[in-house]
Amino acid sequence: MSTPRSNVVVMKFGGTSVEDATAILRTVGIVTGRLRKGLNPVVVVSAMSKVTDALLACAAAAHAGRGDREPALDISSRLRVRHIETAARLSSGERLTTLHRSIDEHFDSLDELLRGIAAVGELTVRTSDLIVSFGERLSSLIIAAAFAEQGTESAHVDARGIIRTDSHYGKAAPDETEIERALATKVLPLVQAGVIPVMGGFIGSSPNGETTTLGRGGSDYTAALVGGGLHAGAIEIWTDVNGIMTTDPRICPDALRVKTISFEEAAELAYFGAKVLHPATILPAVQKNIPVWVLNSRNPENEGTKITATPQSCASPFKSIAAKKKLTIIDIVASRMLLAHGFLKSVFDVFDKHKCAIDMVSTSEVSISVTVDSKEALPAICEELGRIADVKYESNKALICLVGEDIRGHSGIAAQVFGAISHVNIRMISQGASEINMSFMINEEDVDEAIRSLHNKFFAAPDASIFDVEARATLAR
Ligand code: ADP
Ligand code: ASP
Ligand code: MG
Repeated sequence: MSTPRSNVVVMKFGGTSVEDATAILRTVGIVTGRLRKGLNPVVVVSAMSKVTDALLACAAAAHAGRGDREPALDISSRLRVRHIETAARLSSGERLTTLHRSIDEHFDSLDELLRGIAAVGELTVRTSDLIVSFGERLSSLIIAAAFAEQGTESAHVDARGIIRTDSHYGKAAPDETEIERALATKVLPLVQAGVIPVMGGFIGSSPNGETTTLGRGGSDYTAALVGGGLHAGAIEIWTDVNGIMTTDPRICPDALRVKTISFEEAAELAYFGAKVLHPATILPAVQKNIPVWVLNSRNPENEGTKITATPQSCASPFKSIAAKKKLTIIDIVASRMLLAHGFLKSVFDVFDKHKCAIDMVSTSEVSISVTVDSKEALPAICEELGRIADVKYESNKALICLVGEDIRGHSGIAAQVFGAISHVNIRMISQGASEINMSFMINEEDVDEAIRSLHNKFFAAPDASIFDVEARATLAR
């Protein structure tokens, strides 16, 4: 007999879903709606929209200022005003006084840090993590207070006491056993008492208690870790579009909502650039067979996208098209011999040593081409590779990735894909080992046009059981 699903639902709200007081009130309404249905929400929030970028800009300005700390303090003071004004629209009386004091204390310590960076002229990844953490720490405080003000019992939970990670600042790896333990002692009792825990996404702490982050877009990952650790009945990722779409709607406004997509397809899309989900989100949920939904906080009635364990068969070969920009192609030509035994291993060891992930690989008899998205380690990697091969690299490349479980069932797909973009210069091609993606590299400036041409070709007559065709019909009317 299967065990009934837990009533716990982890609800994550992205930056645009908490961008201002109006959006936060919408968020509070969505969560209390779940509560009324008898569910037990656990809320994970991002920083208010654009705050993470502004905090990184603050840190960069303090670092670049050579003693001049004013530009950094200027950005911080504008952020302080934005947070205090938002808090004032959402809280009142004693609650607002306490919140206001706490926001001021946070910004006072941020300013202290910025002055330190400007004085010393040094900015480490560790300090950068501490600085960006203010975004989620502040938004979660303001939102927890907004729940209370609206009459819903809530408790602010410092995510750093829950999301225990290693010390790899900038992109820390979570320790799921420690997280599960912390959730059991600090979050579960709140849920059982009918209180809504509100915590920031993205941030965590290292074994020695220092602040870490899970990498950009990491709040989705927090939601999945919390959902996995609590054995939640569902994880909901609330964003600013109707769900996972057939491509980025900012590039292609007639993109359609995908009604259901498999974990494997969604993971592939996220990894290859669909910003709607953080690449690592899916794993903790898959392992525990927890359904994940992507929903629109501006249109909560919409059904969104359900990410399911098993794929549903579809008449179209692809479910969605993603693009990942800012990539570099490295061509490695074996200088002294043809690709001798062990050569590939020595090449990959260099990337491994620098913790640099490779997105795509293609090989010929004497050369290997790989693509990477990190620029920082590039000079060191190329120098090391230069000892065993001739190395060249080209930046400003982009990867286009078409994803679908049904690629394998369609013959002649590659001809159709490349036929649709015959005017675009293609640099590397790969058909994924997982058999559910087909990817190729092009120049960054060709991305929008390539995506539109491919979308026109493959989503002109979509399968209504998988794609929200009614929305397109409404648009056309
Ligand atoms: P949040 O702040 O909620 O985390 P993000 O900005 O990280 O939101 O992700 C949502 C954005 O992802 C959308 O506004 C959309 O432009 C972009 N996006 C890219 N690819 C897709 C896709 N396939 N489906 C939906 N959205 C996509
Ligand atoms: N605020 C962080 C970012 O902008 C994390 C997130 O929103 O997911 O990357
Ligand atoms: Mg995001």
